[in-house]
Amino acid sequence: MSEYDYDLFVIGAGSGGVRAARLAAELGKRVGIAEEYRIGGTCVIRGCVPKKLLVYGSRYGGEIEDARSFGWDYEDLRFDWPTLIHNVRREVDRLNALYTRTLEKAGVDRFLTRATVEGPHTVHLPDRDGPISAEYILIATGSHPAMPDVPGKEHLISSNECFQLEALPDSIVIVGAGYIGMEFASIFAGLGVAVTVLHRGEQILRDFDNDLRDGLAEAMRDRGVDLRMNANIESVEQAGDCYRVALKEGGSVSASLVMAATGRIPNTKDLGLQRAGVELGWNGHVVVDDYSKSSVDSIYAVGDVTDRVQLTPVAIREGTAFVETIFEDSPKIMDYAFIPTAVFTEPEIGTVGLTEEQARDRCRVIDIYKASFRPMRATISGRDEKVMMKLVIDAETDKVLGVHMLGPDAAEIVQMAAIALRLGVTKAQLDATMALHPSIAEELVTMRHRWEAPSPIKGSDAAA
Ligand SMILES: Cc1cc2nc3c(=O)[nH]c(=O)nc-3n(C[C@H](O)[C@H](O)[C@H](O)COP(=O)(O)OP(=O)(O)OC[C@H]3O[C@@H](n4cnc5c(N)ncnc54)[C@H](O)[C@@H]3O)c2cc1C
Repeated sequence: MSEYDYDLFVIGAGSGGVRAARLAAELGKRVGIAEEYRIGGTCVIRGCVPKKLLVYGSRYGGEIEDARSFGWDYEDLRFDWPTLIHNVRREVDRLNALYTRTLEKAGVDRFLTRATVEGPHTVHLPDRDGPISAEYILIATGSHPAMPDVPGKEHLISSNECFQLEALPDSIVIVGAGYIGMEFASIFAGLGVAVTVLHRGEQILRDFDNDLRDGLAEAMRDRGVDLRMNANIESVEQAGDCYRVALKEGGSVSASLVMAATGRIPNTKDLGLQRAGVELGWNGHVVVDDYSKSSVDSIYAVGDVTDRVQLTPVAIREGTAFVETIFEDSPKIMDYAFIPTAVFTEPEIGTVGLTEEQARDRCRVIDIYKASFRPMRATISGRDEKVMMKLVIDAETDKVLGVHMLGPDAAEIVQMAAIALRLGVTKAQLDATMALHPSIAEELVTMRHRWEAPSPIKGSDAAA
């Protein structure tokens, strides 16, 4: 009989924690899990899932409008936010129950409370006599929105509160132009809200390929979103029914709601980790090795709390690798290459692999292939939309290093492209692949001409 209450105790029942707890329990291990909010975590309760449902909801307006050109007619088109948000919450409740049942079926003991770490093998739960002991502790506590520290910050909401809104605002200011800020800008714009985005950088979506950043910014502006770059907020104050956001550069913007989308912070505050000897990084993230082990041999961490790549499939894969390493005697090092990513804006971004800029830093010579075209649907709808596709190639090996797309179904297309990139696909192999016609994705296998950067404008021409 083991000297511990559990073989594994998991703190946090989100994407990474639930996966690790379930897999370990299915191997016959005694597993406990603590969750302080709702089982399912950020992705299911207030992240990917409810967001994607809102994205779907926000796209219908434009699609119904376009349908007129295809012969459909309708009267009295109205949008009702309470119906949408009620249905989204119902689906979240269903998934929350499903995740709970999954843990139950696997035989995982669930504690719906906050847990803290007391030592290398001990966890404290409030309202319980004495600590719980475990051979291994897995920290899977995720992250929370970082809020700007400015006067009036109490007026700001985060993405969490967007899922709790009982009514749609007339207008919103979104501070931050990362993927979460841009997705909510697109959702609100699609639902008829006047949206202003304030971003302190030069361009939206830092770290994405520059053509995607420029292309999405242009498309969002065309849809009426007021994107303001190099804009730093100084303060927020209530002014009647509205909030006034003052800018350091001077001037202000007013709106009925102000949302901050300015990054996420790992959840390690007051978790007792340092007391137990766990090293934390610059923003409080748990520092881990290739096997997700912290500086304490019995304490591991997966998912957002480690601040490696903050995405659901990554947290799930890290949770799986942890179980294989510890309980299946099959050590697994995570591979972070070719993680496909989407930005569910309108138009949508799908991207995998190196950006052009990263490839230029890493390779001696690269080739770029680019296509920009009107999707067939727009020829009838008349909508002013464009698709952009881009391939980044290592010119020496012919390997495809990156695929970047802006346009309809970009996420679905790039998920498939990610498989090819992982397998080391070359440009010649893309060229040898038969096109599926007529489709948007066929462009990926029909780009024949290298893109040449326009020659720089000469001094005299520029002046002319
Ligand atoms: C608005 C939004 C949209 C997103 N969209 C996408 C997307 O489209 N695609 C994608 O891949 N990713 C997306 N993400 C990111 C994704 O949700 C996270 O990367 C993922 O949920 C991380 O999983 P995790 O297991 O690390 O943490 P979480 O899923 O956050 O789970 C951590 C859990 O730990 C609990 N907890 C924290 N501290 C304690 C404690 N002391 N005791 C007990 N419980 C505790 C929390 O309540 C939480 O339930 C989105 C995130 C947000 C915010």
